Amino acid sequence: MVTQPLVIKGTTQLLGVIGYPVKHSMSPVMHNAAIATLGLDYVYLPFPIAPDQLKTAIDGFAAVGLKGFNITIPHKQTIMPLLTGVSDVAQAIGAVNTVWWSAGGWRGTNTDAAGFLAPLQALERDWHQSPALILGNGGAARAVVAACHQLGCPKIMVVGRTLQKLEAFAESWQTSPLNLNISVHTWDQLDSLLPQIGLLVNSTPVGMAPKPDASPLTDVQINQLPAQAIVYDLIYTPRPTKFLQQAAAAGLVTFDGLEMLVQQGAAALEIWTQQSAPVEVMQQALLNHLGQ
Ligand code: NAP
Repeated sequence: MVTQPLVIKGTTQLLGVIGYPVKHSMSPVMHNAAIATLGLDYVYLPFPIAPDQLKTAIDGFAAVGLKGFNITIPHKQTIMPLLTGVSDVAQAIGAVNTVWWSAGGWRGTNTDAAGFLAPLQALERDWHQSPALILGNGGAARAVVAACHQLGCPKIMVVGRTLQKLEAFAESWQTSPLNLNISVHTWDQLDSLLPQIGLLVNSTPVGMAPKPDASPLTDVQINQLPAQAIVYDLIYTPRPTKFLQQAAAAGLVTFDGLEMLVQQGAAALEIWTQQSAPVEVMQQALLNHLGQ
């Protein structure tokens, strides 16, 4: 595909990302690369919105005719009551990362679960035989839980370090529209869980730059996984993490977080433009930006 130079005209439509701060967001790089490749008359901008300005901002976005936007920390939960409609998956995850204008109101969904699923769905595998173990119980873990449920994993086990947060995490799924087989565990229970796992996901920041020598598991623990287990790290800097290096050394199939990041963006772009997103272009733009 030939990339078109960005020309802002009277007809150019606005997309963007809101956060506070938002300067770390890689979404503008990824989305503007895709817009240029598709030759669309759009531009994607970062909007730093302070928490007490959220409602004013989205009312203003409606007034200026923004087509849609992504949401990052700290607005992913607080925006939900301000929207006209929220998808079931976003409702279950408890967070919205993509919003679009439709029929006189802002509608929201969460594309993180679809982003996480994309590389797994390309595999030939009976997911009903693959219990999932998720390390961490923060925001990203919620999308991973919804995704594992969608895949068909028969059991979803979540490991965390703060008992109170773990219990609240388990409790929150009881009222979700998804009917989940979920259990929560502390890290000292890990050794008894690992031998039954088909999919192991790191959704903690352990191993992320600037501490690339850390891993959530020891080599001995990695070697307790069955030979067919898949190991997935949501972290995308560094690539690969120590965790994924350990898993690869044990002969296991691995995935890092870059494709999830790209695919959640691709899913958002498709909602806004109704066009197929150029996933490889978006990935390359991120790699260039990350200096990889
Ligand atoms: P979060 O909401 O802050 O949750 C982090 C979780 O990790 C919490 O459960 C936390 O436990 C746990 N944790 C933190 N440090 C730990 C440690 N040293 N040992 C054990 N557990 C620890 O963060 P998040 O938004 O879920 O993000 C988690 C990771 O996923 C980050 O590395 C982020 O970059 C990555 N991510 C990637 C993508 C992608 O598209 N690839 C998308 C989202 C997130 P407590 O609750 O007890 O503190």
